[in-house]
Amino acid sequence: MNCLEFRRELAASPQVMSAAAREHRGHCSTCADAWHRAQLFEQRLQSVLAVPVPMGLADRILLRQTTDSRVHRQSARQTWIRLAAGLMMTAGMVGVGYLTFGTSASLASASMAHLSHEPFALNRTELIPAATVSQLFAESGVYLKAPLQSITYLTRCPVYGQKTIHMVIRDGGQPITAIYVPNNQQGSADFAERQIVGRHRNIGHGTLVLMAEHGDAFDRIEASFRAAIEGSSSLAGMY
Ligand SMILES: [Zn+2]
Ligand SMILES: [Zn+2]
Repeated sequence: MNCLEFRRELAASPQVMSAAAREHRGHCSTCADAWHRAQLFEQRLQSVLAVPVPMGLADRILLRQTTDSRVHRQSARQTWIRLAAGLMMTAGMVGVGYLTFGTSASLASASMAHLSHEPFALNRTELIPAATVSQLFAESGVYLKAPLQSITYLTRCPVYGQKTIHMVIRDGGQPITAIYVPNNQQGSADFAERQIVGRHRNIGHGTLVLMAEHGDAFDRIEASFRAAIEGSSSLAGMY
């Protein structure tokens, strides 16, 4: 098990760890820290949810008031507890899932950091219709000339201060993350960190970032994006 797999499992079930995850935690201090923070967060969440409703003076006064206002007060209190738990949950998930890649000084490092914010994205297997993909691109001002297939995750995400389209592509069993930054050309770069390899290339008027556990499918996927965005399938792979 590598760090990314560990973080995925931790985010999915913070209190139940597989043998492989326990083994990884035993020799990876970064992941052991993340596990520890996750346990503290779980404890805090439990204690927030366990706050008893006080039956004191305020309640005795309320008994004299109408049933309606009492019901209102109770539901407002529940709403507040849910809200607080939700905020803590959000903060905790970011803390658990965040891998430190140093500063987000480049599109590459910002994309790497973004990966861990949506660990669930990689687990989806249901295909998104090509028309839905084309529509989201069109809303970003990019009109696809060929359909993009095999996409299982599709959302707009802010990455590197840009409005990007965050996708996951299934190639065989492997999930490949693709982030397209419209109207922002960052040129070519290849990068690798913590068991993730990546590249980015100018495509159309923007930049395509690809990230996965290995880069075997990158050429093919880059060519399909080039065909879809530039309409130059015959030249795919020559850049
Ligand atoms: Zn680790
Ligand atoms: Zn995203």
